Amino acid sequence: MDKKKDIRVLTKEQLRDFFIENGDKAFRGNQVYEWLWNKSAHSFEDMTNISKETRKMLQDNFVINHIEVDTMQRSSDGTVKNAVRLHDGLIVESVLIPTKSRTTACVSSQVGCSLDCKFCATASLKKMRNLNPDEIYDQVAAINKESLLYYNHKLSNIVFMGMGEPLMNYNNVLKAIDKITSPEGLGISAKRITVSTSGIPKMIKKLADDNVKFNLAVSLHSGIDAVRSQIMPFSMAFPLLELKESLEYWYAKTKSRVSYEYIVWDGINDNRAAINALVKFCRYVPCKVNLIEYNPIDKGEFQQAKHQAINDYISILEMNDIIVNVRRSRGKDIDAACGQLANK
Ligand code: SAH
Repeated sequence: MDKKKDIRVLTKEQLRDFFIENGDKAFRGNQVYEWLWNKSAHSFEDMTNISKETRKMLQDNFVINHIEVDTMQRSSDGTVKNAVRLHDGLIVESVLIPTKSRTTACVSSQVGCSLDCKFCATASLKKMRNLNPDEIYDQVAAINKESLLYYNHKLSNIVFMGMGEPLMNYNNVLKAIDKITSPEGLGISAKRITVSTSGIPKMIKKLADDNVKFNLAVSLHSGIDAVRSQIMPFSMAFPLLELKESLEYWYAKTKSRVSYEYIVWDGINDNRAAINALVKFCRYVPCKVNLIEYNPIDKGEFQQAKHQAINDYISILEMNDIIVNVRRSRGKDIDAACGQLANK
């Protein structure tokens, strides 16, 4: 078995120290660090400004557990889905979503998911493990390359809306974002990154305490506990009152508006009481609502509500001065849309 250490668990300082301990200059550590992160090298052989002997020495001591894009599918609307193979053979998916002016990467944070949302295909997969920071980073780097290749510009936005619950893999997600935003990584502004959570109050407060600069989205789907805990059973342990308090805490510390993701389903939340509950929830902190189109999953008992119900949501939210956007699905033909990621 290969017991060599993954070189990307080392900080830049540790890498510099490694070279000093091995009789080289600390500066060599900077060069290698740049290859590993900024240039996203897959192998030591790629590091062309490093001598052959040094590359061999690195090879003898370390591995680079780089992800490999296993299959790539392109949708008729330009959406690209990558099935990504991890070093232990497990697969996760990430998606590139192009619009006229920008490209967005939708990345995974776990293999499978810790949670049990009834309407989400990923929930039917067993949670296998958390992704490491470099595995999250690599997904973004791969999509950045594809964005340059197909759309001639760098990746502009990142959403953590792929597989998994990012706040259940808190430390690794934050470490990955550090690298993504760092000039030594991809140099993408935190303001262009959105972490989407199904709503884990304790971890939302921790985000606020950690003074993060990225955007927060919460998959709300209902402002009524009894309904929410039916469609998102884990939320029984996190009542809306606790969620509300955590969001108030978040807003007080960050002054950053929260986005609520919300799907309207036939017979579940397509009624006036549900709309009123959403309006009430929206008064707690400055926010906006993204109404997401439902993407049917194979054995789903869920159906997108009728146009009229969605229009009711829009007009009542607007009447209450709440910002509302309707999000059309992208990449449906390749199972790349929200909630459809299940390694098909
Ligand atoms: N666990 C995180 C991130 C992954 S889900 C979260 O819950 O936010 C990303 C978004 O897709 C969430 O808003 C989720 O509610 C939504 N989603 C899940 N299944 C869906 C489906 N079948 N159709 C449309 N959106 C879905």
